[in-house]
Amino acid sequence: MRIETKCIQSGYSPKSGEPRVMPIVQSTTFKYDSCDDMGKLFDLEAEGYFYTRLSNPTFGYVEQKIADLEGGVGAMLTSSGQAANLIAVMTVCNAGDHVLCSSMVYGGTFNLLGVTLKRFGIDVTFINPDSSYEEIAAQIKDNTKLLLGETISNPALSVLDIEKFAKAAHSKNIPLIVDNTFATPILCRPFEFGADIVVHSTSKYMDGHATALGGVIVDSGNFDWAASGKFPEFTTPDDSYHGIIYTEKFGKKAFITKAGVQLMRDLGSTPAPQNVFLLNLGLETLHLRVRAHCENAKKVAGFLENHDKVTWVNYPGLESGKDRELVKKYLPNGTSGVISFGVKGGREAAIRFMDNLKLAAIVTHVADARTCALHPASTTHRQMTQQQLTECGIGEDLIRLSVGIENADDIIDDLEQALNA
Ligand SMILES: *Cc1c(COP(=O)(O)O)cnc(C)c1O
Repeated sequence: MRIETKCIQSGYSPKSGEPRVMPIVQSTTFKYDSCDDMGKLFDLEAEGYFYTRLSNPTFGYVEQKIADLEGGVGAMLTSSGQAANLIAVMTVCNAGDHVLCSSMVYGGTFNLLGVTLKRFGIDVTFINPDSSYEEIAAQIKDNTKLLLGETISNPALSVLDIEKFAKAAHSKNIPLIVDNTFATPILCRPFEFGADIVVHSTSKYMDGHATALGGVIVDSGNFDWAASGKFPEFTTPDDSYHGIIYTEKFGKKAFITKAGVQLMRDLGSTPAPQNVFLLNLGLETLHLRVRAHCENAKKVAGFLENHDKVTWVNYPGLESGKDRELVKKYLPNGTSGVISFGVKGGREAAIRFMDNLKLAAIVTHVADARTCALHPASTTHRQMTQQQLTECGIGEDLIRLSVGIENADDIIDDLEQALNA
């Protein structure tokens, strides 16, 4: 199947007489005829459902769909994008280990690694993603267990050179995890460029309507945990499952199985079946919406670039974009609906612009059907000093615009009148 067909058809396929639409299995638990039947599930000897914290048929259908979309061997849904990043990192790292992460990442990921996981003994180095292959490889230490980056970073909109990062990671026998939230598998499939694990906040374009928080981890099945020699937890017996060895028992699915049966079991960052149903509705139109977001954003970015009240525009899809070579390679069909730009007149003018928007709403969210805007300096980042703002690349004039799928001319009209005001 081609990707548009997978959006609609992958995952759930009813047998004769079953519901046409994927059912919401709203049950915490599942019934068995004998203790022995259920016991086999607890020993991981049989596949099936016994408790929704670990898995649920509704999750299973959507996990299969997302694995198909990304080209992976398996996926696991989580309650949020934060939980997906947390579990992906913790599946490979223990206290005393180290993570090498692109400095151009989502603020939540920056805090997760730089603050919270540090408290639990997992160290991090942030590296400029424009560093050379040699510079990246040189930062990988003996205890470094993974590399992490975002295909299109939120909010800096920097494009990751996935092949360069993958080569650097593989030169030291560690995996590359790519957060593919903004690109979605419609615009880029990081496994095709050597990434080993993909994570998403499904709260963004995948859900696409700002209805349900969620996340997902996808396993390419390509990383050889046994050959690496750096991941004894994958290759030695797990006492909490009568000594099974993940690489031996689950082969290409070692990572995603371990993530579920150990960490989801213990952390319980499980989505709600109802939310997974909403996510699936979003996935069915993902290919249509993402293309519409990209087309609209390109028009809007072009309008902003030519407006005399706008000082600068950052949209990777513009010919003037700093990453245009990377865009050609990794994102030939579009670069999402998110744009950032600066208005003439700094902080005061930016606030006046925001307050005059009529169609575009002021919200912290991005990447849903409705156009929305954020002025970080006066909202999400308002506690920061001028110098701190400069350090994280957020000017006082910066507006983040998430272009929706309304008519582009209506979006442009709204921006025009707010700029004039
Ligand atoms: C929003 C976001 C997250 C966090 O996801 P939540 O669903 O809000 O927990 C992680 N990574 C990226 C790139 C995001 O945009």
